Amino acid sequence: MKTYIDQAEQALLHTYNRYQIVFDKSEGMYMYDIEGKKYLDFYSGIGVFALGHHYKDYDEALKNQIDKLLHTSNYFYNVPAVDAATKLKEVSGLDRVFFTNSGAEAVEGAIKAARKYAYLKDGQTDHEIIAMEHSFHGRTMGALSVTGNKHYREAFEPMIGHVKFANMNDFDSVLANVTDKTCAIMFETLQGEGGIYPASQEFMDKVKALCEEKDILLILDEIQCGMGRTGKMFAWQNYGVKPDIMTVAKAVGCGIPVGAFLMTEKVAQNSLVAGDHGTTYGGNPLACAAIAKVLDLFAENNIVEHVQEITPYLEEKLDALVAKYDFVETRRGLGLMQGLVCNKPVGPILNDCLENGLILINAGANIIRFLPPLILTKEHIDEMCEKLDKAMDKAKDIS
Ligand SMILES: *Cc1c(COP(=O)(O)O)cnc(C)c1O
Repeated sequence: MKTYIDQAEQALLHTYNRYQIVFDKSEGMYMYDIEGKKYLDFYSGIGVFALGHHYKDYDEALKNQIDKLLHTSNYFYNVPAVDAATKLKEVSGLDRVFFTNSGAEAVEGAIKAARKYAYLKDGQTDHEIIAMEHSFHGRTMGALSVTGNKHYREAFEPMIGHVKFANMNDFDSVLANVTDKTCAIMFETLQGEGGIYPASQEFMDKVKALCEEKDILLILDEIQCGMGRTGKMFAWQNYGVKPDIMTVAKAVGCGIPVGAFLMTEKVAQNSLVAGDHGTTYGGNPLACAAIAKVLDLFAENNIVEHVQEITPYLEEKLDALVAKYDFVETRRGLGLMQGLVCNKPVGPILNDCLENGLILINAGANIIRFLPPLILTKEHIDEMCEKLDKAMDKAKDIS
């Protein structure tokens, strides 16, 4: 492995401190490195592999599409894009879809749609967006501008501007930032990178009411928490609060790089028109064949129901670890997106887990993040907890 890692560090831009593992293949809930070592996957490639690895019929659908038609650009129509858009509308109750190649690009589109919506109302070009502290929306300039982490932004200033930051679940902090220039309030329904913070019902209700009262658009970023992860297809469906614009990516392609932003008909009719926005690859037949197949497989195999059924078991086992170890303060999350909040850095624990064939990641220095494939069984949860327990026991006396 060392040879490949050395070679990688000569060729790739060093923007990540990577774990010293080179992966080679995967199957179901497991990944294998090039030396044949087996790892239980509890991170899903950062929430991508909702269906685990090589789910039945998924690969076949992609292979068939490769043999048929790979690319058209958006100068023409293609069948998989129609299919994927129609299915995304069905599961979300939103009306219009724009396909992108990544999550950040979906966020860029959502910001443009919100600005255009406000521009068409008053012809002004100084509209503001309220985003949240500790949010994460991606690394491109627009997405970075609404990401509430100064460390990510600072060296790349100036940002797009006219962005204000409020605090998640603190409605007064949102209210304090609202002006007659506010065009959108945006946040992750359940913050991922920022530390697994779910929105409270009260916050969702109050923000929604405020948005309706002032014709401000509610943009919910479901890139990490969407696609069944919280026990509903989209996390906002747990709250009964529907966004005007939603971003998705990660698990929507289950391994194919793709994203989308969706909106209500009202926003669609009053924002982006022909010539306003575009992409060469977005809506590509291969990517859309993946989305369409993923949505079919979710429905046929009751994936969302499975998440609802298995969540209490994971929560119970994680709560047992909270009770057992003093350094574990609490558990936070929804469904199969959970965090164990510790009072010290969790790096040594994660390294120990990897050593023992378990992949877990962090969300901030002190939080262990759980993002397993949604197809997991109780046996996988038991295997994970056994390995994590050992690593925690080893770490309990280190500060
Ligand atoms: C990962 C993520 C993004 C960015 O998606 P990319 O595909 O990495 O550009 C945006 N928002 C949230 C909530 C994410 O988790």
